[in-house]
Amino acid sequence: VLVLGIETSCDDTGAAVVTTDGRILGEAIASQAELLGQWGGVVPKLASEEHRKFIDKVVADALHNAGVQESALSAVAVTIGPGLSPCLHVGVRKARIIAKTHRLPIIGVHHMEAHALVARLTEKQVGFPFLVLLVSGGHNLLLLSQNVGQYVQLGTTVDDAIGEAYDKTARLLGLDMRKGGGPALEELAREGDPKAIKFSVPMRGPKYLDCNFSYAGLKNQVRMAIESRNIDGDQVSLSMASAEDRKIRADIAASFQRVAVQHLEDKCRRAIEWARRLAPSLSSLVVSGGVASNQTVRAKLGALASELDLQLVCPPPRLCTDNGVMVAWAGVEHFRLGMYEAPPDADEPDDVRLDLRPRWQLGDIYEEGQSEAR
Ligand code: ATP
Ligand code: FE
Repeated sequence: VLVLGIETSCDDTGAAVVTTDGRILGEAIASQAELLGQWGGVVPKLASEEHRKFIDKVVADALHNAGVQESALSAVAVTIGPGLSPCLHVGVRKARIIAKTHRLPIIGVHHMEAHALVARLTEKQVGFPFLVLLVSGGHNLLLLSQNVGQYVQLGTTVDDAIGEAYDKTARLLGLDMRKGGGPALEELAREGDPKAIKFSVPMRGPKYLDCNFSYAGLKNQVRMAIESRNIDGDQVSLSMASAEDRKIRADIAASFQRVAVQHLEDKCRRAIEWARRLAPSLSSLVVSGGVASNQTVRAKLGALASELDLQLVCPPPRLCTDNGVMVAWAGVEHFRLGMYEAPPDADEPDDVRLDLRPRWQLGDIYEEGQSEAR
C-alpha cells in the first residue's frame, strides 16, 4: 500500500510517498526561507502564491524519487489544518485533483498529529500511549497521544513558543539569521557561561500548577540584560563585535538557553506525572518540531526521560520540521484503521474549501483534577 502525503499548512511545500510498513520511497520539499527572511515572517498571501508555484513540481518530484506513478497510489493524505487557510487550500486542491483522477480515498490530516505520529515511523517501538512535546517557532505543545486520532492536550504556550524566543533573542544579539536564529544562538551559547546571568525560570512557584509555557517574559529579561550591558545587536553584527563584546553576548546566549530549556524540563516533568494518571503504561517521550534538533534540549530531556523511566525519541531533524513524510505517514496510520474519506465524485469541483480546518484543535484539553473526578 502506497500513500502520498502533501503538506502546505505554513511556509513549506512538502510531498512524500510512504508505504504501510514505513518505508519512505520518495520525498521532496520546497521551503520559503528566503521570503521569510525578507518579510520577517509568513505573509499568508505571498506564502500561498509560493505554494501554488511549487506544488506540482514538489509532488511530481516526490513521485519521481519514489519511482511511483500516481495511478499506483492507494490513497492521498493532505494537511487540512491547523494552518493558514490560503496555504492549506493549495495542498487540498492538489490532493483532490489526484484523488479524483485516480479514484483514490482522501485522508485529511491534522498537522500536529502528523508531527506526533512521525516518531512511530522512525522508531518502530513507539507504542501508544506516548507523550509528545512539540517545540517549534509557532508551537509549544504537550500532548498525550492515546491512539490514532485520540489526543489529550496537557499544555500549550500562553504567549510565545520557544523557537520564537530563540529567534528573537538571536536577533537582539545581532546573530546571522540566515541559518535560523535557533541554530545560530545554540552555536554562540557554546562559548558562553550558562550561569553568568541569572535569568529567572518562567512560571515557577505555587501559582503555576499547570503544564503551560510562557516565553514572553524571558525575552524581556534578555532585552534588559542587553540594554544594561550596552551592546547593540540591532546595529552591530556579531562578526564585527570586539572579543569582550562577543563574550558578553555568548554569556547571554548560554544563560538564555539554560533557562529556556529548564522551563521545558519543568513542564515536561509535570506532564509526565499527569500523563501517567491518564495512561499508566506510558513508555515514551517524543520531542519534535524545529527546536528538537537542539543538543541542550535533547540532553536535558534525555536525562529527565531516563530518570523517570521513559524512552526519549527525537525524529531526525528533517522530519522534525514541516515535511511531506509525516503527512504521508499519518495518512498510513489512518488508512490502516479505515479512517479515510471516499474518493471525490468525478463531477465535484476541485477547489471546495469545505474540508479545510484552519483552527483545528487536537483532542480535549486536560484540566488538573479531571482524572480524580472520573
Ligand atoms: P510551526 O511548524 O510551528 O508553524 P515553524 O515553521 O517555525 O513553526 P519549525 O520549522 O518546526 O517550525 O521550526 C523552526 C523553529 O525552530 C525556529 O524558531 C528555529 O529558530 C528553531 N530551531 C531550529 N533549530 C534550532 C536549534 N538548534 N536550537 C533552537 N531552536 C532551533
Ligand atoms: Fe509544523
